[in-house]
Amino acid sequence: MRKVDEIRALFPILDRKVEGKDLVYFDNAATSQRPRSVLDLQQELCSRSNANIHRAVHTLSMEATEAYEKGRDAVRDFLGAESREEIILTSGTTASINLVAHCFAAAGFLKNGDKVLLSAAEHHSNIVPWQIACQATGAGLKVLEVEPDGTIDLQKFSDSLTDDVKMVAVAHVSNILGVVNPVKQMVAVAHSKGIPVLVDGAQGVTHLKVDVTDIDCDFYAFSGHKIYAPTGIGVLYGKKEWLEKLPPYMGGGDMVESVSFEKTVYADLPLKFEAGTANYVAAACLRPALEIAGELASDAAVATHEKELMAAMESALGSINGVKVAGIDAPERIPLYSFTIEGVHPLDAAMLIDKMGVALRSGHMCAEPIVRRLTGGSSMLRASLMPYNTVGEVEVFARALARVVIMLRQ
Ligand code: PMP
Repeated sequence: MRKVDEIRALFPILDRKVEGKDLVYFDNAATSQRPRSVLDLQQELCSRSNANIHRAVHTLSMEATEAYEKGRDAVRDFLGAESREEIILTSGTTASINLVAHCFAAAGFLKNGDKVLLSAAEHHSNIVPWQIACQATGAGLKVLEVEPDGTIDLQKFSDSLTDDVKMVAVAHVSNILGVVNPVKQMVAVAHSKGIPVLVDGAQGVTHLKVDVTDIDCDFYAFSGHKIYAPTGIGVLYGKKEWLEKLPPYMGGGDMVESVSFEKTVYADLPLKFEAGTANYVAAACLRPALEIAGELASDAAVATHEKELMAAMESALGSINGVKVAGIDAPERIPLYSFTIEGVHPLDAAMLIDKMGVALRSGHMCAEPIVRRLTGGSSMLRASLMPYNTVGEVEVFARALARVVIMLRQ
């Protein structure tokens, strides 16, 4: 069996049809599909071990707690973090970044006149939480432009780190450009000036082998649903020294050691940041999801397959007149292509191509500032692939897109 067929066999949804056609699912950057191992664990935990975690001594609760904590251990291994205390389970990337922005400001690390440095290509999740933190403190945002090829210039980055910059928040990979940012080098430069760095890894974990200890970032955030796990679970990696300096984000059950009306003692890490009943089923599913992700990331045959997919996509998009692909000339990128087609509205194209069985994303894709800079408008199309996609699907996409262009340009 070909490698890609073996991978596809793990994902039941890939067999479905849309509008009578074989599904071509190219909206993976929005959410990925789930393998059978994840679906089975979800089913098993819900039907056999459903109970609240951390709080009871009965069998079901202990099983649920064990499954939850195994999810955390899987994340620790996957990210190469030094300790499990550095792995906070949240509801997603958005929640993770909000946590850091809020607590960083609340702890007094952002003051009137300070700046948070972001790249121009950030997702709304890595812009708005910082705007809120700035509003609360009198700090402001500073935006680092990206180069015409979508890359970040390290010299310009270094020059932008003036004394007033107190935090750098940058995507590992932009969800519009698909370009891999040099986060390790950026962290080294920022640290040489005493500035911490948060990496938004929502699109980074899906195609790159991530090692937070090697990158040396202070915070790294990602979402389970973009890497084969269910929705409603996400991760915040934080260096212990930072997590200890930050106050809790939310108060409630599970994040406390003892409570009285006079005084509350918070739980130790990581529970200090995990108030309330967790989505333990989804958290547990991080284990099988990251197992598959880890296997795929270290398989040379998968790397070759991804290169073939990218070559096929680049030639398919290049063959259509009037197509402009963001970040296409960058030296290091993932199989994620945001594009416009002259004379064709992205929404019309996405609706029409869906009738041909092809799922694409359209709109501003929650990164309106960079979409506006690139297009002057507020909308693009995006095709994003995972290792379970095939060159055959790229060919179907290319034929469908060519038809769509002819139909909509008439
Ligand atoms: N950052 C980036 C780069 C993303 O692509 C996304 C998801 N589109 C997010 C943050 C937000 O992720 P979530 O909605 O899962 O919190």
